[in-house]
Amino acid sequence: MRRIVVVSNRVMDLKKAAQAGGVAVAIADLFRVRPGLWFGWNGKLVDTHDDPKAPDVRIGKAVGASTLATLPLTPDEHRDYYLGYSNSVLWPVFHNRLDLARFEAGFYARYMEVNERFARGLAALVQPDDIIWIHDYHLIPLGGMLRRAGITNPIGFFLHIPVPPSQAFLAVPEHRELAQALTAYDLVGLQTQADVANLIQFLEDSVSGRILQDGRIAAFDHRLAIESFPVGIDADAFVCGAKAIPPLAQSTDGVQRIIGVDRLDYSKGLPEKFRAFGHFLEKYPAYRRKIVLSQIAPPTRESVEAYHDIRQTLEALSGKINGMFGELDWVPIHYIYRSAPRDRLRDIYRASRIGFFTPLRDGMNLVAKEYVASQNPADPGVPILSRFAGAAEQLVDALIVNPYNLEETADAIKTALDMEKSERIERYSRLMSVIRGYDSAAWSASFLVTLEAAAKERSRAVAPLTPSMRASMAKLARTPHAPIALKLGGQVFKRASNGK
Ligand code: UDP
Repeated sequence: MRRIVVVSNRVMDLKKAAQAGGVAVAIADLFRVRPGLWFGWNGKLVDTHDDPKAPDVRIGKAVGASTLATLPLTPDEHRDYYLGYSNSVLWPVFHNRLDLARFEAGFYARYMEVNERFARGLAALVQPDDIIWIHDYHLIPLGGMLRRAGITNPIGFFLHIPVPPSQAFLAVPEHRELAQALTAYDLVGLQTQADVANLIQFLEDSVSGRILQDGRIAAFDHRLAIESFPVGIDADAFVCGAKAIPPLAQSTDGVQRIIGVDRLDYSKGLPEKFRAFGHFLEKYPAYRRKIVLSQIAPPTRESVEAYHDIRQTLEALSGKINGMFGELDWVPIHYIYRSAPRDRLRDIYRASRIGFFTPLRDGMNLVAKEYVASQNPADPGVPILSRFAGAAEQLVDALIVNPYNLEETADAIKTALDMEKSERIERYSRLMSVIRGYDSAAWSASFLVTLEAAAKERSRAVAPLTPSMRASMAKLARTPHAPIALKLGGQVFKRASNGK
């Protein structure tokens, strides 16, 4: 079997990580079924790189059967590439929050510089038979850079976050460069069909991309496959049958729990969630004292300006709701401002009558799938899910709500609490067949099979070079005033600026 080389912004040993996000969880699940090489930032900052041109890669010890190859960032790189272009431009724009984007000079140049460093480091490690799989918005230009370094292996890209409507994407000053970078891949994988439609529209608007008969998109002399591969979970890690679990510390007889687990991010719709819960308590007073909302909200990207106010807003809102409705022996909202270890989450989900997942925009929302998989099949809880989470395209048997609609969301809490056991069981089994039918192993396998097929198409389209073509190439390399690029047999050969 061919080796998989996975590249993501952040590489971590999940067993040691205090907190993981969806990307790390998905990659760790992939390596459980198909070991390989994981390349990316190790989370460390160094004052400077000894040699500014050298990639500074460290081969780490293996985690399971996989090897980690990592590099550090400098504080400037971290500020402009990670906090800047990735998380203050691409993240807000892709979550359709143009109002929060900070288009600052210098961010993009450093984003390209760090991607170049990744490309140099990775190119030296790639073996001829490897399949390269690049993850997420931090590394959009990396595939094209690897191609320019002479890497001909299959290269696929998966975007874990949503693709915004074309009009929002076009607001990014470098949208043409990003579009061109995407077309360098053999395959771009997205979370949903809606994302596929948005990306195709964007490529048409930005760089006059054309849809070909075989469904691929042609732009800049490349043919790119774009498909949806909704990230799945390792369901077996959460399923525990009808087995009883120890009660949670705060469980009180007769009080039902609503659980929320979201990074403290403006895309997760936490203030709207708290307000909807407050409205529910106001509208349906009979449920007071019978229900609590436990919200686990680990902080994230605290040095990005757009994240500064969320914590304060939530503390004020939970304080207000608890003050308004709480009693000496009942606190309606438990707001926990830190992460929960992954091995505790299953029991927490299972002890909760409602899973409350209402992001304003989310690539997938793995926690909704994990909540369902953790339920007791004989007496399952009910997920309430935002229609703007990628998971809503698959989990149609959750209670789907518009998180901007306070009334609808509050009513969904009541519907979930009143739902007969027979209906909960029916919904649970339909949801589980979706979650099991396309789990994390199926997700990675289907992406990799499609990537290999797309790469084969590319090599078929590129005719082998004849001896006269090779002679022309050699001539191009020697001629200082020759055209900068030459197209031979469907391939474009570029002359380096120094004539080599
Ligand atoms: N997670 C965790 N502890 C926490 C919060 C989240 O281990 O306190 C995990 C959670 O189990 C899930 C992932 O982090 O697998 C979050 O993925 P999701 O797609 O829901 O959101 P993201 O953080 O990627 O936006």
